[in-house]
Amino acid sequence: MLAVDARGLVKFYGTAPALRGCDLAVAAGERVALLGPNGAGKTTLLKVLATLVRPSSGALRLLGIDALRSPSLVRARIGVLAHETYLYRDLTAAENLRLYAQLYGLDAVEERVAAMLARVGLTDRAHYRVGTLSRGQQQRLALTRALLHTPALLLLDEPDTGLDEPGQALLADIVRASGAAVVLATHALERALALADRVVLLAEGRVIHTARTAELDLATLREVYGTAAPVRA
Ligand code: ATP
Repeated sequence: MLAVDARGLVKFYGTAPALRGCDLAVAAGERVALLGPNGAGKTTLLKVLATLVRPSSGALRLLGIDALRSPSLVRARIGVLAHETYLYRDLTAAENLRLYAQLYGLDAVEERVAAMLARVGLTDRAHYRVGTLSRGQQQRLALTRALLHTPALLLLDEPDTGLDEPGQALLADIVRASGAAVVLATHALERALALADRVVLLAEGRVIHTARTAELDLATLREVYGTAAPVRA
């Protein structure tokens, strides 16, 4: 069963197309990096996959479920880390995770919350309100929120945002250890090569190239990437 089976996704914002017929197939446990210049459609594609935005046309199955017919069934099984952290600023770090754990109907909530906070180095910030945490600390917490219910599919939009070097390495470790299928949008080509099994290059709302990272080096990837980012006057 595929984790993602997207066919012919089209998304118009008004009359402007952000996706012009995107196909994407991701196997269970496979990690895919979405690359492409600003405005290529990466965030839009991730939002459609996360069932946050409905496509104008196309078909989408996630984890064997028709995501356009049953978005709430899908949402319970995917983890999303987007530009928006989906954290409550006036609640503490621990309260946020507790709340999400309860929403997901998880057991052993206190143990789970403590383990997650420890995993991302936030134990000493457990009782701080999110609004008082630094950008990188909030991103670490948002990552734990996305992973709390052990999703089989992770959708990550520029997850390195705000993370220091150890934080970026930790993110990669956690994502690898999760065993989940991953679709990750990033501009960090080197990190994409290290973390992903496959890169998918988007330009102007379409997939223009895909390659297995085992068969790709950084210089070649840079060259291919360059073809997607023509210099505009
Ligand atoms: P970046 O690398 O800059 O994050 P991206 O590849 O994630 O870019 P998107 O954010 O998906 O690109 O945007 C794709 C196109 O859709 C852009 O031209 C953008 O202006 C447009 N777009 C995105 N969201 C909206 C919206 N809510 N309303 C109108 N147009 C939008």
